[in-house]
Amino acid sequence: MSLSSASQVLQTVFGYESFRGEQQAIVEHLVSGGDALVLMPTGAGKSLCYQVPALVRQGCAIVVSPLIALMKDQVDALKELGVQAAYLNSTLDWSEIRAVERDFLRGELDLLYIAPERLLGERCLQLLSQGRISLFAIDEAHCVSQWGHDFRPEYMGLSILHERWPQVPRIALTATATTHTRQEIIQRLALGEAKQFIASFDRPNITYHIVEKHDVRRQLLQFIRQEHMGDSGIVYCLSRNKTEDIAKFLNKEGIKALPYHAGLDVARRAEHQARFQQEDDLVMVATIAFGMGINKPDVRFVAHIDLPKSVEGYYQETGRAGRDGLAATAWMAYGLQDVVQQRKMIEDSNGDEVFKRRSAAQLDAMLGLCETAQCRRVRLLAYFDQHIEPCGNCDVCLNPPKMWDGTVAAQKILSA
Ligand code: ADP
Ligand code: MG
Ligand code: ZN
Repeated sequence: MSLSSASQVLQTVFGYESFRGEQQAIVEHLVSGGDALVLMPTGAGKSLCYQVPALVRQGCAIVVSPLIALMKDQVDALKELGVQAAYLNSTLDWSEIRAVERDFLRGELDLLYIAPERLLGERCLQLLSQGRISLFAIDEAHCVSQWGHDFRPEYMGLSILHERWPQVPRIALTATATTHTRQEIIQRLALGEAKQFIASFDRPNITYHIVEKHDVRRQLLQFIRQEHMGDSGIVYCLSRNKTEDIAKFLNKEGIKALPYHAGLDVARRAEHQARFQQEDDLVMVATIAFGMGINKPDVRFVAHIDLPKSVEGYYQETGRAGRDGLAATAWMAYGLQDVVQQRKMIEDSNGDEVFKRRSAAQLDAMLGLCETAQCRRVRLLAYFDQHIEPCGNCDVCLNPPKMWDGTVAAQKILSA
């Protein structure tokens, strides 16, 4: 492909009219050779931030991506648009690998997606040193964080890219927004010089609603019946058994539901996921195994019937609602029993002291969000160091807790 401007590529190759948010600034920064760290919520459009520069700059862009299934989808979609894209991962046989390597060496690829463990192998590093590289994109960059639930040890080795190819611009992208994760990415990937692009993590179309748990099945049923009958939704539970129980219960009550957890065999998981994707009135009752890679735009609600382990997890899970920008609900029922149970799980875990302390702090922050008398959205975004005005649309804003109740109760206790 000959050199052309970024907006031309956006329009002629991708068929989009204009860039969104910070995309253009990021693309320009990369095209001119700078390193970038990009924090944007899921669905905001991170892929274009490296796909466009890949077509504007000379050479082949190397994209590191941890999810083999998504790699194939992305490459297929790019090929559909006429982009010369390929991937290298463990699903290919030798002759396929050699064909991709040959195309790369001939300079016939614009983008090459590579699984991190393969990229760091000597064969691949050798290959890359013989071709022309336009940029490195490290997608899902939070996988370098040991504290996140997506930790991939191979990501730790990726600083080698900077050591071997100091001239080649790099872009690291993630939807994980905590300051701590950001610092870990910068340090582990040697991105100290990178320009940071941090988008707002607010999802204004999601209404947050958190209640105390007493009879959670009834509460869930009532929530769905009153607000989301016939809608597509996800109910998150902590245990595999519970997903099956709750799915049965919902079906009996006339709400079409399927379970999803890592204990189901692969074929059944795939079938349930495909049905969820296709049908617009199905409720998936799932453990957190259901998540990465779902991009159904019209999920109208996400319900948690057990307390998530962290605010980070809660944000990612609720963020699967309302990707189409239309109104959606994040509903949760929590009980102190959840907290007791999870504290015990942390205590009994094999993690070291640092892990335990950190997990306990994450749980406390989650509990803080549940018990806050502040706007839920203000509190949620504060966790990501983002500051906004009260939203007027969450349960606390709509129904502020009556402070005098507490005072009366306290007076009763004091005078008793
Ligand atoms: P992320 O990686 O941030 O989760 P993606 O890169 O997968 O998001 O993009 C999400 C969706 O948004 C895709 O369907 C993509 O085509 C669309 N999209 C991204 N940027 C634009 C744009 N500038 N104009 C229109 N659609 C866009
Ligand atoms: Mg992405
Ligand atoms: Zn609010």
